[in-house]
Amino acid sequence: MIKNEIAPTPSNTYSFSRVKCFQQCPLRYRFRYIEGRKEAFRSIESFLGSTVHDVLEWLYAQRDDAIEHSEPEILEEFSRRWTEGRDRTVAVIRINDDDDEYHRLGREMLSRFFHETFSRDRSRTVSLEQRLSKRLSTEVLFTGFADRIGRTDKGRLFVIDYKTSKSEGNGSEFSEGLQAPLYAACVLDHHDDTEALAGYHYLRHGTTRWQQVDRDRARQLVERFLHLVGEVEAAGDFPADPGVLCAWCGFNAICPSAQVPDSLSGGLRRAEEMGRSLF
Ligand code: SF4
Repeated sequence: MIKNEIAPTPSNTYSFSRVKCFQQCPLRYRFRYIEGRKEAFRSIESFLGSTVHDVLEWLYAQRDDAIEHSEPEILEEFSRRWTEGRDRTVAVIRINDDDDEYHRLGREMLSRFFHETFSRDRSRTVSLEQRLSKRLSTEVLFTGFADRIGRTDKGRLFVIDYKTSKSEGNGSEFSEGLQAPLYAACVLDHHDDTEALAGYHYLRHGTTRWQQVDRDRARQLVERFLHLVGEVEAAGDFPADPGVLCAWCGFNAICPSAQVPDSLSGGLRRAEEMGRSLF
């Protein structure tokens, strides 16, 4: 293992992703957060999500600087970032999928967002890609990144998270029940408002779902998150929990329990090409 690939997360600092990772597969959690290993690849879906997010951040930052962009300019910015960032650590997991399809999908999402949302959006940005941090107890610190914090044209405080996933959330804790509301709870610490809106914007569908987070709800969310952290901290061991997500797990080439069907082996093959195999 190369030295700079090891970077354990401070033991008392918990993000939403950290807790979600433990829930999905404790062994993956151990590799990433306790041993601090770096995943061998990232999926094209994850690359698509981060590139679209970067363009949205740029778009709102440009608007704050009073710079207007046309749709072709936005799509060009996306394509430029796509080409620059698309290195060999990005893997197409579904081996029959075409790389260009994901590029086209990103352009489609941005085009829809530009016409249906951005061009009508009269809200004011408070901050973009804001790092949030909140002490939840004497031992536990919560951390995360909010895509955009703003105020509606009527002055209501909001936090919004952009989603590039195929399906819209189902309301469960690790879908849309906890993350953005918890971010709203953090944001309330820095404002005098009695409540904040927590939203998810689904870029493939062009829909937004809002939840209201008042100070009572914020306290409940903190309690709920602390309970989940308590489960992680109480774990004596970290067994593998293999399943369909193994194909997207960047440790699948070193994991003895990985279950990766041939049709989803794009990441595994890439990891092996890069010399990250078990044997
Ligand atoms: S390959 Fe599967 S079982 Fe192994 S760590 Fe990753 S998600 Fe867990």
